[in-house]
Amino acid sequence: MSNDAPWLSQGLKHIWLPYTQMKTVPAPIGVRSASGVHLTLEDGRRLIDGVSSWWTTVHGYCHPHIEAAVKAQIETIPHVMLGGLAHEQAYRLATRLAAMCPGDLSRVFYSESGSVSVEIAMKMATQYWLNKGTRRTRFLSFKGGYHGDTFMTMSVCDPEEGMHSLFTGVVPDQLVVDLPQDEASIKSFEDTLTRYGHEIAAVVMEPLVQGAGGMVFHSADTLARIRKACDAHNILLILDEIFVGFGRLGTMFACEQAGVVPDIMTLSKALTGGTLPLAATIAREHVFDAFYTDDPGQALMHGPTYMGNALACAAANASLDLFESEPRLEQVSAIGRGLETGLAPARDIPGVVDVRVRGAIGVIQVEEMRELDDLKRRFVEAGVWVRPFRDIIYTTPPYVISKDDLAALTSAMVEATHAWSKDVGFA
Ligand SMILES: *Cc1c(COP(=O)(O)O)cnc(C)c1O
Repeated sequence: MSNDAPWLSQGLKHIWLPYTQMKTVPAPIGVRSASGVHLTLEDGRRLIDGVSSWWTTVHGYCHPHIEAAVKAQIETIPHVMLGGLAHEQAYRLATRLAAMCPGDLSRVFYSESGSVSVEIAMKMATQYWLNKGTRRTRFLSFKGGYHGDTFMTMSVCDPEEGMHSLFTGVVPDQLVVDLPQDEASIKSFEDTLTRYGHEIAAVVMEPLVQGAGGMVFHSADTLARIRKACDAHNILLILDEIFVGFGRLGTMFACEQAGVVPDIMTLSKALTGGTLPLAATIAREHVFDAFYTDDPGQALMHGPTYMGNALACAAANASLDLFESEPRLEQVSAIGRGLETGLAPARDIPGVVDVRVRGAIGVIQVEEMRELDDLKRRFVEAGVWVRPFRDIIYTTPPYVISKDDLAALTSAMVEATHAWSKDVGFA
């Protein structure tokens, strides 16, 4: 592997990496440059990016339109505080997001990361009820869900899930139930709402696809059922579209496919096209109205230092331009078809239990993950950047990937998985 760059070996003694046991981690792979769907490594090799840098770079790397917007912005206003001062990019972006979002989702609160945008959504929901004179202290979420790594968001993630299970009893105890998908789970969901409904500030969920929980899909019907139940029990619905928002499932927002409008929606990952950190918590009118009074004590007391950063908002505006001028959603459906064909042969690999595709997400699920580092190494050797986790090997390519690159990506995935399956002894 390409670990010869001095900045890498020196820095490795000082950097603390995400989700990583630093003692046993193989050295990460140095990237020298990135362009379109390709990563050029320090040793000169080129990989097709099958991940889109944690699902962000939907237009590919270094898109000239986003680059130009950020360059122009840094020469005028890189950042000004949003308290008392205003700049065009943040205001224009809020106007555009409000116009794009379904229903009357129309008030945009900015932050810098997905986790924080979910924290803000939960704080908003709690205060919504307080401002209305009732105290609701609990949240209901679903097994398999993921909403971030900060303390409050950990409490609504799947509690059994390896990443956060250590913190059981430390983070607030929430109601985490099965997604209502069959008779038993529907009944238990309804029973929980009947029993605790008056204590629940909001239901928090990822619509249609649970991403970090293992790329698990559910139907639009399930989402519609949850919206209905929230209405019936007078509970707010927070949809976390941080992963699926901005076209990943073939519609701009996943909730559109179920005809559902959440009370609060969170967006981040692809918001700036993978260039700068930015997140948004977007509320409907009736949520905003609960804060819109003559009482200063009813204001939302939140304000991240870098909220509405001008560079990030310029990048986001440029990304939205590309969604308007380029056939991104058609590209997503073409990718979906390419993934169906390209990954289908994986069904016959010993150890593979499922192959599934939704929008521009392709998943090979295995019986059990073995020799994970070995599997990762095989993908790099095959010329693709794919980062398997839990029991899945998945791809979420940039929407601009060509037909040939997509075919190369899927066949590398299938071949590497096949060779790995043989070696680790799946029969
Ligand atoms: C990534 C993700 C988050 C957390 O976003 P960060 O920017 O990593 O804090 C929250 N919810 C979902 C659905 C995500 O995919």
